[in-house]
Amino acid sequence: MLYQRSSALFEEAYKYIPGGVNSPVRAFKSVGGVPLFMKSAKGAYLTDEDDRNYIDYINSWGPAILGHTHPEVLEALKLQAEKGFSFGAPTELETEIAKYIVENVPNVDQIRMVSSGTEACMSAIRLARGFTGREKIIKFEGCYHGHSDSFLIQAGSGMATFGSPNSPGVTQGTAKDTLLAEYNNFEQVEDLFKANPEQIACIIVEPIAGNMGCILPENNFLQNLRKICDENGALLIFDEVMTGFRLAFGGAQEALNVKADLVTYGKVIGGGLPVGAFAGRNEIMNYLSPRGNVYQAGTLSGNPLAMRAGLKTLQLIKQDPEFYNKLAKTTETLDFEIGKILNEKGIKHRINRKGSMMSIFFDVTSASNFNEVNNSNIGLFNNLFHQVLKQGIYLPPSGYETWFISSAIGDTEIDKTLEAFRNFQY
Ligand SMILES: *Cc1c(COP(=O)(O)O)cnc(C)c1O
Repeated sequence: MLYQRSSALFEEAYKYIPGGVNSPVRAFKSVGGVPLFMKSAKGAYLTDEDDRNYIDYINSWGPAILGHTHPEVLEALKLQAEKGFSFGAPTELETEIAKYIVENVPNVDQIRMVSSGTEACMSAIRLARGFTGREKIIKFEGCYHGHSDSFLIQAGSGMATFGSPNSPGVTQGTAKDTLLAEYNNFEQVEDLFKANPEQIACIIVEPIAGNMGCILPENNFLQNLRKICDENGALLIFDEVMTGFRLAFGGAQEALNVKADLVTYGKVIGGGLPVGAFAGRNEIMNYLSPRGNVYQAGTLSGNPLAMRAGLKTLQLIKQDPEFYNKLAKTTETLDFEIGKILNEKGIKHRINRKGSMMSIFFDVTSASNFNEVNNSNIGLFNNLFHQVLKQGIYLPPSGYETWFISSAIGDTEIDKTLEAFRNFQY
């Protein structure tokens, strides 16, 4: 059996960990089958407990943009570990990474470190509410901003303009303050502003969506959000947990040339260690405690090991002026060549791509919002997933996720990947 040890480990894990995993998507529920248990990773490759190697297109869901276990990040971490793991007191290193980010990212004066993207987004909307003195927020269907209560909301039924909880445990009281609109549908946003005058604190959006597959903003969607926020005294929050330091060093703000009032980070910013952050202009960030009254805190925030891994990762990216061009080129090649192979097989599909993010949707010609993604043939994706997995290609285990291309993926890996797609039988 291919995945013998993983199967045994999953069975054992299932007894002690809810569902056998510490984050749901890892359980392969969407694609079916047994999740692979990994034991090591290096460069473009993951090695599972059955000693099989995989070309990794998840890269820890984004953080491993340099590929896994980069030797210089590893060295920096070892040196830092010698000095201590955590002090619960300020360190010079925290200022160093904050300054480095503020100087190299557009439109950001101050940054607060946290330990996950969830924390970053949760704190950013609290800050937006504290700053504006308003309670309601707008989010888009299919966008993910972590698992805090305000975001676990789905479109309300019938005439309701507010959302309803999409997880037990989220209260109706919380849900009524989250307004839902369809991604790329600016008219719905206009309607929400009309229906809730002077009540909307912020819009939070993934500037390139990656949590319903890769979806691109269309028809000046982000520019229009910018404008309507300005007209109504609301803040625009770019959730760049996925796109930050990935689309460009300055994330989507730089790549798409739209300014946000607050930006959240995660994933790449920690280089594989648990880090999130949120940032913005002085006038807004000064509202945060201890300088201001909007409370936010974290025992391990700015942890020295995490800061060191993050800073080294960002420096390695920054020192190569061609870094993002090369990543985009790799992704473009995958897009074109996989597209060609699927066309030759007569498989109707749509590939969305931006920078080093891409997704394939089957049996649709357009994928620009959550509804259209839902209409794609997820069954065919699941079939593809398992066939290429057997050939050593590790795609995200769900048709609702983006692929994350790392700089460790070169011609050898591309060739192996295309070979696996050529062998795809449906
Ligand atoms: C991953 C992600 C989050 C949540 O980050 P966690 O570190 O998993 O809490 C939030 N927003 C976006 C856009 C993400 O991709």
